[in-house]
Amino acid sequence: MTETSKRTGSCLCGSVGITANSASNTVGACHCSMCRKWDGGPSMDIDCGTDVTFSDETAITVYVSSDWAERGFCRTCGSHLFYRMRDSGQYLVPAGLFDDQEHLVFDTQVFIDNKPSFYSFANETNNMTEAEVFAMYAPSQGETS
Ligand SMILES: [Zn+2]
Ligand SMILES: [Zn+2]
Repeated sequence: MTETSKRTGSCLCGSVGITANSASNTVGACHCSMCRKWDGGPSMDIDCGTDVTFSDETAITVYVSSDWAERGFCRTCGSHLFYRMRDSGQYLVPAGLFDDQEHLVFDTQVFIDNKPSFYSFANETNNMTEAEVFAMYAPSQGETS
Protein backbone atom coordinates (compact mmCIF):
# COMPACT_ATOMS: atom_id res chain seq x y z
CA MET A 1 0.00 0.00 0.00
CA THR A 2 1.18 3.50 -0.69
CA GLU A 3 1.65 5.83 2.22
CA THR A 4 -0.95 8.56 2.61
CA SER A 5 -1.03 11.87 4.42
CA LYS A 6 -3.22 14.88 4.94
CA ARG A 7 -2.68 17.57 2.32
CA THR A 8 -4.12 21.05 1.98
CA GLY A 9 -4.16 23.40 -0.97
CA SER A 10 -6.18 25.91 -2.93
CA CYS A 11 -7.01 27.21 -6.37
CA LEU A 12 -5.15 30.17 -7.87
CA CYS A 13 -7.56 32.85 -6.63
CA GLY A 14 -8.10 31.26 -3.21
CA SER A 15 -11.88 30.90 -3.54
CA VAL A 16 -11.62 27.14 -3.12
CA GLY A 17 -9.57 25.55 -0.36
CA ILE A 18 -8.96 21.80 -0.52
CA THR A 19 -8.35 19.33 2.28
CA ALA A 20 -7.43 15.77 1.35
CA ASN A 21 -7.17 13.63 4.46
CA SER A 22 -5.60 10.55 2.90
CA ALA A 23 -3.68 11.73 -0.13
CA SER A 24 -1.07 9.55 -1.75
CA ASN A 25 2.54 10.72 -1.71
CA THR A 26 2.94 9.81 -5.36
CA VAL A 27 2.07 11.69 -8.53
CA GLY A 28 0.80 10.15 -11.74
CA ALA A 29 0.75 11.75 -15.18
CA CYS A 30 -1.97 11.08 -17.73
CA HIS A 31 -1.26 11.66 -21.40
CA CYS A 32 -4.77 10.89 -22.71
CA SER A 33 -6.28 13.33 -25.20
CA MET A 34 -9.01 14.43 -22.77
CA CYS A 35 -6.54 15.37 -20.04
CA ARG A 36 -4.37 17.19 -22.57
CA LYS A 37 -7.39 19.20 -23.77
CA TRP A 38 -8.37 19.94 -20.20
CA ASP A 39 -4.91 20.86 -18.91
CA GLY A 40 -3.16 22.00 -22.06
CA GLY A 41 -0.61 19.25 -21.45
CA PRO A 42 -0.43 16.02 -19.47
CA SER A 43 -2.30 16.07 -16.17
CA MET A 44 -0.21 15.45 -13.05
CA ASP A 45 -2.44 14.27 -10.27
CA ILE A 46 -2.38 12.85 -6.76
CA ASP A 47 -4.75 10.03 -5.83
CA CYS A 48 -6.66 11.46 -2.87
CA GLY A 49 -9.15 8.65 -2.32
CA THR A 50 -12.67 9.71 -1.35
CA ASP A 51 -11.93 11.78 1.75
CA VAL A 52 -11.67 15.21 0.14
CA THR A 53 -13.45 18.39 1.19
CA PHE A 54 -13.67 21.88 -0.30
CA SER A 55 -14.06 25.16 1.57
CA ASP A 56 -16.78 26.41 -0.79
CA GLU A 57 -18.65 23.94 -3.00
CA THR A 58 -20.64 26.79 -4.57
CA ALA A 59 -17.41 28.17 -6.08
CA ILE A 60 -16.92 24.96 -8.09
CA THR A 61 -18.30 24.09 -11.52
CA VAL A 62 -18.45 20.39 -12.33
CA TYR A 63 -18.18 19.17 -15.91
CA VAL A 64 -19.26 15.60 -16.64
CA SER A 65 -16.52 14.55 -19.05
CA SER A 66 -17.41 10.89 -19.57
CA ASP A 67 -19.80 8.18 -18.42
CA TRP A 68 -17.45 7.36 -15.57
CA ALA A 69 -15.86 10.64 -14.48
CA GLU A 70 -16.37 14.35 -13.96
CA ARG A 71 -13.98 17.27 -13.65
CA GLY A 72 -14.28 20.27 -11.35
CA PHE A 73 -12.86 23.76 -11.68
CA CYS A 74 -13.02 27.09 -9.85
CA ARG A 75 -15.65 29.28 -11.43
CA THR A 76 -13.65 32.43 -10.70
CA CYS A 77 -10.08 31.61 -11.73
CA GLY A 78 -10.59 28.41 -13.72
CA SER A 79 -8.06 26.34 -11.75
CA HIS A 80 -8.65 22.66 -12.26
CA LEU A 81 -9.60 21.15 -8.92
CA PHE A 82 -10.29 17.47 -9.49
CA TYR A 83 -11.04 14.49 -11.64
CA ARG A 84 -13.68 12.45 -9.80
CA MET A 85 -14.90 8.93 -10.49
CA ARG A 86 -18.70 9.09 -10.62
CA ASP A 87 -19.24 5.62 -9.09
CA SER A 88 -16.65 5.47 -6.35
CA GLY A 89 -16.26 9.19 -5.59
CA GLN A 90 -12.49 8.77 -5.83
CA TYR A 91 -10.62 12.03 -6.44
CA LEU A 92 -7.51 12.70 -8.46
CA VAL A 93 -6.33 16.20 -7.58
CA PRO A 94 -3.72 18.18 -9.56
CA ALA A 95 -0.42 18.12 -7.67
CA GLY A 96 0.08 21.84 -8.31
CA LEU A 97 -2.81 22.83 -6.05
CA PHE A 98 -1.16 21.57 -2.89
CA ASP A 99 0.85 23.73 -0.50
CA ASP A 100 3.62 21.20 0.13
CA GLN A 101 5.07 19.48 -2.91
CA GLU A 102 8.51 18.71 -1.46
CA HIS A 103 8.18 15.01 -0.74
CA LEU A 104 6.09 13.89 -3.67
CA VAL A 105 7.36 11.11 -5.91
CA PHE A 106 6.43 11.06 -9.58
CA ASP A 107 6.10 7.33 -10.20
CA THR A 108 3.48 6.57 -12.85
CA GLN A 109 2.51 7.60 -16.37
CA VAL A 110 -0.67 6.33 -17.98
CA PHE A 111 -1.88 6.43 -21.59
CA ILE A 112 1.81 6.62 -22.47
CA ASP A 113 0.96 5.49 -26.00
CA ASN A 114 -1.28 8.56 -26.42
CA LYS A 115 1.57 10.95 -25.58
CA PRO A 116 2.45 13.30 -28.44
CA SER A 117 6.08 13.16 -29.51
CA PHE A 118 7.00 16.77 -28.72
CA TYR A 119 7.67 16.10 -25.02
CA SER A 120 8.67 13.29 -22.68
CA PHE A 121 9.53 13.13 -18.98
CA ALA A 122 13.00 12.05 -17.91
CA ASN A 123 11.76 10.57 -14.59
CA GLU A 124 11.92 6.82 -14.21
CA THR A 125 8.29 5.80 -13.90
CA ASN A 126 5.98 2.85 -14.25
CA ASN A 127 4.35 3.41 -17.65
CA MET A 128 1.04 1.99 -18.81
CA THR A 129 -0.58 2.02 -22.24
CA GLU A 130 -4.25 2.73 -22.84
CA ALA A 131 -4.95 -1.01 -23.20
CA GLU A 132 -3.14 -1.76 -19.94
CA VAL A 133 -5.09 0.96 -18.10
CA PHE A 134 -8.44 -0.33 -19.32
CA ALA A 135 -7.45 -3.91 -18.47
CA MET A 136 -6.61 -2.84 -14.92
CA TYR A 137 -9.51 -0.47 -14.22
CA ALA A 138 -12.36 -1.75 -16.38
CA PRO A 139 -15.31 -3.01 -14.34
CA SER A 140 -14.34 -6.49 -13.24
CA GLN A 141 -16.03 -9.29 -15.09
CA GLY A 142 -17.18 -11.97 -12.73
CA GLU A 143 -14.60 -11.03 -10.15
CA THR A 144 -15.63 -10.12 -6.66
CA SER A 145 -13.83 -7.24 -5.07
ZN1 LIG B 1 -10.12 30.12 -7.93
ZN1 LIG C 1 -6.33 11.42 -18.87
